[in-house]
Amino acid sequence: MPGADVPEPLRQAVRERAGGRCEYCLTSEVLSGIRGQIDHITPRARQGATTAENLCLACVACDGHKHAQTHARDPASGEAVPLFHPRQHSWDEHFAWNVEGTEIIGLTPTGRATVIALNMNDPLIVGARALWVGFGAHPPLRQLS
Ligand SMILES: [Zn+2]
Repeated sequence: MPGADVPEPLRQAVRERAGGRCEYCLTSEVLSGIRGQIDHITPRARQGATTAENLCLACVACDGHKHAQTHARDPASGEAVPLFHPRQHSWDEHFAWNVEGTEIIGLTPTGRATVIALNMNDPLIVGARALWVGFGAHPPLRQLS
């Protein structure tokens, strides 16, 4: 299981820091009903450390699609670029919600590559977001980090 070797106090600190949301697609654990996973942003397979600076909370979908990737192709240029790094990058700088609040738009090469690599607009999650928008629980308020 991803992150299973992360000490519990550190897991708890990462979860609290994230406010119970995936730090890639911002899906809420409460809305999805599925506990997020502790993701090594730089994977352990690439010598990523088990420290607060290299950990984030990721939903099962983002974590599964990211796997050991650190780079992906920007669909606009075809160039390999770094994936979004929740500790080093600002979400609002790289992503935005579409007008309906259901799809994530990549604003930068990193944003576009991450949307594709992590399949952040899978029709299933887009459908769920539409329901959350319907009762005013989505999209989340602007991140201030
Ligand atoms: Zn996610």
